[in-house]
Amino acid sequence: MKKLGCTVLLALALSISSAADNRNVYPIAEERGTAGTLAALEALPVHVRVLYTIAHPDDEGAGTLVWLARKAHADTALFSLTRGDGGQNVLGSEKYEAMGLVRTGELLEACRLYGVEPYFSTVFEFGFSKSAAETLEKWGHEATLEEVVRFIRMWRPQVLISRFQGTGGDGHGHHQAAGILSVEAFRAAGDPAKFPRQIEEGLPAWQPQKLYESARGGAGLQIPVGDYDPVLGRSYREIGAQGYSKHRSQGNGAALALPGQAYDGLKLVQTVPGITGSDQSLFDGIDTSLTSILDMVGPERPALQALEPELKAAAQAAAEAISAFDPKHPEKSTPAAARGAGNLAQALALAERSSASKPARKIVAEALRRKLHDFHEAVSAALGIRLIATTEDASGAPGQKAEVNAVLFDRGTLPVIMKSLQVTAPEGWAVAAESQAPAQVEAGKSVQRRFSVEIPQGAAVTEPFWYRESRDDTRYRTRPTPNIFAPFDPPVLKAEAGYDFGGAEIRISEPVRAQAGDPLRGSDFVDFQVVPPLSVSLNPDIAIVPLSAAKQTREFQVSLLGNEPSGISGSVQLELPAGWSVEPPEGSFSTARKGESVKVRFRISIPAGTKTGNYPVSALARAGGREYRRGYKVISYPENWTRNLYSPASSSVEVFDLKIAPQLTVGYVMGSGDEVPRALEQMVKVEMLSANDLAFGDLGRFTAIVTGIRAYNVNNDLKTNNQRLLRYVEQGGTLIVQYNTPGRGSSPFPYGPYPMTISAEDRITVEESPLRILDPQNPVFSTPNKITEADFGGWVQERGLYFMNSWDPKYTALLSGSDPGEPPKNGGMLITRYGKGYYIYTSYVWFRELPAGVPGAFRLFANMLSAGRNN
Ligand SMILES: [Zn+2]
Repeated sequence: MKKLGCTVLLALALSISSAADNRNVYPIAEERGTAGTLAALEALPVHVRVLYTIAHPDDEGAGTLVWLARKAHADTALFSLTRGDGGQNVLGSEKYEAMGLVRTGELLEACRLYGVEPYFSTVFEFGFSKSAAETLEKWGHEATLEEVVRFIRMWRPQVLISRFQGTGGDGHGHHQAAGILSVEAFRAAGDPAKFPRQIEEGLPAWQPQKLYESARGGAGLQIPVGDYDPVLGRSYREIGAQGYSKHRSQGNGAALALPGQAYDGLKLVQTVPGITGSDQSLFDGIDTSLTSILDMVGPERPALQALEPELKAAAQAAAEAISAFDPKHPEKSTPAAARGAGNLAQALALAERSSASKPARKIVAEALRRKLHDFHEAVSAALGIRLIATTEDASGAPGQKAEVNAVLFDRGTLPVIMKSLQVTAPEGWAVAAESQAPAQVEAGKSVQRRFSVEIPQGAAVTEPFWYRESRDDTRYRTRPTPNIFAPFDPPVLKAEAGYDFGGAEIRISEPVRAQAGDPLRGSDFVDFQVVPPLSVSLNPDIAIVPLSAAKQTREFQVSLLGNEPSGISGSVQLELPAGWSVEPPEGSFSTARKGESVKVRFRISIPAGTKTGNYPVSALARAGGREYRRGYKVISYPENWTRNLYSPASSSVEVFDLKIAPQLTVGYVMGSGDEVPRALEQMVKVEMLSANDLAFGDLGRFTAIVTGIRAYNVNNDLKTNNQRLLRYVEQGGTLIVQYNTPGRGSSPFPYGPYPMTISAEDRITVEESPLRILDPQNPVFSTPNKITEADFGGWVQERGLYFMNSWDPKYTALLSGSDPGEPPKNGGMLITRYGKGYYIYTSYVWFRELPAGVPGAFRLFANMLSAGRNN
């Protein structure tokens, strides 16, 4: 069973705050009905923790995770070093933090199916890396190890599984680094001399008993992930594949496993003394009973000896609850399960009164609360008790009220006595119950209680607790949060209910959510979130302005989204560099209802002779006596979660030497999604080409046509009409094709005028690696901008990917470069004459450099766009 928040949250940052409550209102099939109740019962007498480490969301061995959680009933944490911020995105144009947010949500979704809890370190995924050395240097080897060790000391797993081996065979440098760090952390976590500050903070050393690495080719321990589970109705691998398919941004939407035997290999790499033998199973030599909770404090165990009888009694009660299980009458299991909950509550009281040290008491109390929570969930599942709390609106702003309706359903055959039904909110919020707490709920009935929640002025908006301050940050900074490794902060509002059953008080809780679905994407519930009264954003992000002796102007738009139900009005202005002017100097705006967005246009004047440089422009709105300087973008994953990503309402004007051939008109064919057309609009007229345009439109009116990233992978209309595009080139047009991906390894790209082959391996990941111009006479390097080495400075993230590794001699390679120590790769930019026109294939990362406002990228792209003018 996936853990929900403990009813009593531990206050300190060192505690595992249990999984973020981002579960959909509808439990998945494996967690409801007979399967769900039986699983909840079977987990009761088991206490074993496993930690599985990866580098990125989607590295995980899904079948193994499902087997751990749903077969072995191990509390399993999936620890990803990164949130996947640097990955490619086949779904949309999100990059960096926004991409990290998307992939955090995808992993959360996947883990719902796996039944495990996702956690993250704070390192930022800076993009593809070929070596562990480069990765660890960027992240900081010691700082990253500190976090992995900290997490191990928090989670206190008996078994550590590293997805990666830490060798070249892992591929990606991040993967190698994850393998290396896992091995180092296995030892360091148990060594009190390592990271002593953690121990001073109350986090004692912890030595996991076994370290495994995933193994291929039938080596090592074989986890039977293909075993059919008659209760779940599928194999662990089949469930895992459904979870893995949630990594849709990584193109895994169609992941599918069919029935059939399959194994995941795990190789035992290290053990602590005392664990020996054949290693026939993952938990050979490991105590997985409830009394192993006491082993979590190592040498302090004797001080907690008084708990042992209670834990044994709880285990006995759990065994009785399992043997009493009757699918038609699950309530038969509840007396024993409730008795076990009473034993654990008693153990918890004994722990708090014990003579053990404060850190030891805290560790044991946290483990007992989690297990107690399991018992409470099992009793509720067997009784058919369900708590749901909703708001009308998915968000509220400071100063506003939210009405919460909390309903407890008793869908079973036994009545229960209500002890409490509450809504909890952050400190400083006012929660008023509008009705009495119900006293009892009859079998087959429900009770409800309404609350009015007032969001105080100054309440923080709901946003990810991780952020970067500058583009150069290789680690996220974090705002105060209970657990810096959690996917998100705990939900803002939670409903909590307590009821009496069999002499034990059973407590359950649920996040407060709003129904936010629509007819197209289906029903959907999202956590209640705090939003600002006014969200301000400024477009474009970056304005490109050529050096000029004359005054130039640029248009900026401020978008103002109001969250006040009765509307919000005020004034808005732009803040500019000294000597610049803007029309109008101030604008006014007014919204009529919540969710309405209005735009105000400004035209700024850049003085004649403004020198090369980047100049900040920002928007400031005033309303109701307050100033607003930032705004949010909504990022959501169908069916489960929606988050707002905030950024300042600021842009920059990049002034540099840029020449653009006159009257260029560019057609753009979108691929999987990029911001290149918006960036190109900064210097030329851009028209998006539809399927209809590709099939019937007059292409001859474009000086150049550009295809978006991975356009030939995803856009069937483009493939279908490719002959028209080649004819357009033949007749004098310029076609610029950005990168596409091959199948595995390398594959021919059949859409150019002559043959060429794309390689999955050929890329340049180090954005500073030198590039050499192979054909200096080519007009692409001289007209209208004279390209020099300086144009390759200031690039972001990487140089290029999926280069061609072979091509017809009719193509001319234009640029050469490589990562440090590698042979030159020349297939990143190829040009050929075809008929009267030019065909250019380019795998350099224009989709990153142009939106980032990199001058050299604009100068070179401006030259490509005007290739046809050199005839
Ligand atoms: Zn990966």
